[in-house]
Amino acid sequence: MVLAEPTAAAQPCWTPADSAALYGIDAWGDPYFAVNARGHITVQPRGDRGGSLDLVELVQGLQGRNLGLPLLIRFDDILEDRLERLNAAFERAITQYGYAGRYQGVFPVKCNQQRHVVEQLAESGRRWHFGLEAGSKAELLIALSLVDDPEALLICNGYKDQRYIETAILARRLGRQPVVVIEQPDEVGRIIQASRELGAAPFIGIRAKLASRSTGRWGSSVGERAKFGLAIPDVLATVEALREAGLLGDLRLLHFHVGSQINDIAVLKDAIQEAGQIYGQLCQLGAPMGFLDVGGGLGIDYDGSRTATAASTNYSLQNYANDVVATVRECCEPLGIPVPTLVSESGRAIASHFSVLVFDVLGSGGVPGRVPPLGENEPLIVRNLRDTLAGINALNPSSLGGPSEPAGERLVDRLQEAWNDALKFKEDALSAFRLGYLGLPERAMAEQLTWACAEAIVERLPASGVPEDLQALRAALAGTYYANLSIFRSAPDTWAIDQLFPVMPIHRLDEQPTRLGSFADLTCDSDGKLARFIGHGHAKPLLELHPLREGEPYWIGMFLGGAYQEVMGNLHNLFGSTNAVHIRLAPGGGYQVDHVVRGDTNAEVLRAMEHDPELLLERLRVASEAAIQRGDLRISDVRRLMDHLETSLRQTTYLQA
Ligand SMILES: *Cc1c(COP(=O)(O)O)cnc(C)c1O
Repeated sequence: MVLAEPTAAAQPCWTPADSAALYGIDAWGDPYFAVNARGHITVQPRGDRGGSLDLVELVQGLQGRNLGLPLLIRFDDILEDRLERLNAAFERAITQYGYAGRYQGVFPVKCNQQRHVVEQLAESGRRWHFGLEAGSKAELLIALSLVDDPEALLICNGYKDQRYIETAILARRLGRQPVVVIEQPDEVGRIIQASRELGAAPFIGIRAKLASRSTGRWGSSVGERAKFGLAIPDVLATVEALREAGLLGDLRLLHFHVGSQINDIAVLKDAIQEAGQIYGQLCQLGAPMGFLDVGGGLGIDYDGSRTATAASTNYSLQNYANDVVATVRECCEPLGIPVPTLVSESGRAIASHFSVLVFDVLGSGGVPGRVPPLGENEPLIVRNLRDTLAGINALNPSSLGGPSEPAGERLVDRLQEAWNDALKFKEDALSAFRLGYLGLPERAMAEQLTWACAEAIVERLPASGVPEDLQALRAALAGTYYANLSIFRSAPDTWAIDQLFPVMPIHRLDEQPTRLGSFADLTCDSDGKLARFIGHGHAKPLLELHPLREGEPYWIGMFLGGAYQEVMGNLHNLFGSTNAVHIRLAPGGGYQVDHVVRGDTNAEVLRAMEHDPELLLERLRVASEAAIQRGDLRISDVRRLMDHLETSLRQTTYLQA
């Protein structure tokens, strides 16, 4: 008997649009990511303003430049487009609500401190006098140095010692606009002292602890127990201390931050209302003010569900801008005070979309469904399973279905029958084994054939109208896909705080993904896995994937990870940074590679742990010499060993396909 290979696709009519719907790319990826007719992901770096790149061709082109996977691709056009959208949303809201003030944002450096990223933001942001927000001395140095626009704001948050404060005061004389935000009650004393010593004051801001409720992962960033900010009694005491020191005239800004990724717009509205009132009171106490800084928190719809759930938001960028503008206006009008310049510190909302991580799959593991070779004198039970498998492989939706019954339903019926048969035969095999009629090799064959039946069935299942136990078969067959990546390095928040990012194949999207699977990374840590995927408002444990094909790569993209992941990533198992590239649409079509940032080499990660790679090599040279003397190693073997080690030191820490 000749067994047909299970090749027939269940859904000959599966289209790239079906993949787009399955992975929800039009919901979370709009307007930057889509699927084309070839079944590849495309990137529209300028959103709906034209220009498109085939991500697969891009990766191939980069591989041609010796930039292997995993690869972080940064689209600087997207970064610019996000800035533009944020500013445009506020401009529209300001016009719509007749707001007699402006918007002037800052980018929180902690979101992504990479040089090329911050430089790009400073450059693109010039048009709107966009500034930076710093939370440490090192970030302050970046901010002071990269933004030389005298109108841009440099918001100085975080804990501040004397040197930090004096730096900000002196930078004001340099023509910059640093605003020292008082976050702790004792900072006011230090500001007063530094101002006396230097005979000059900084611009001063106050961060208020709001009482408004919050939700989500960072909900505790507000309220009385928040780590940062002044409680209302401290706000009043600070105002009086500044007044006494003659510095009240430099109090210009009120700041609050209700935590990152605000899922529910109602939370934000409450906070702005409360802050708007505090702002008005500060004006009435005699501070000149002029700026209201609504902090970060503008969220990203990671799963595209538009719901107030962890991986989503129930509002758009425009809704956000409208609510900030309208609410602040409503607060100021009755008090008869001029509306402030609105500042936001939107990090996630600016930086999430622009970088895409592409990694390859090294192999997959799952149930042992390989078809065993036909043996001589196979027991009847095993033969029955073989026949069942052949029967399934012969099923073809186009040959089924009569005038009264659609082909799909008929197919599902037949598959269900076949599965019932397979289960029965497998049970028979187990009984026979228990009774001693079947040997271990035959039992192994029976198991392999049963799984092979399951795989052949799953490959033929239509996308819909499948009964539950056949659906469950898909999950039972779920495989582990081995990813050339460390999640601790490249997607730390998936591990640390259960963050969800959209993950999907970047090619083969014209083929139905017939498998379910999750990813295991390269680290020897059982937490090193990706096993939570976006669903509609909930996470799912398995992702639809394609069976691997011999000799063909399988490339997966992780999207919306441009904020926080890089710097939070660590060297677990000594996997270093991946290669990164900056891509721009070229003026004449196609793309240009603006910067290449090489991933850490093995030598670099070793040095990070204080090892000296040369010294490590030297010890092995000595040990090898001894092995040659003992006759345990040939000279040519030693040379090969040293070659491998020396080459590895110069290469990135990831596997080479
Ligand atoms: C982290 C942080 C931000 C950025 O928040 P996003 O939610 O990424 O916009 C803004 N302001 C402060 C004070 C922060 O600590």
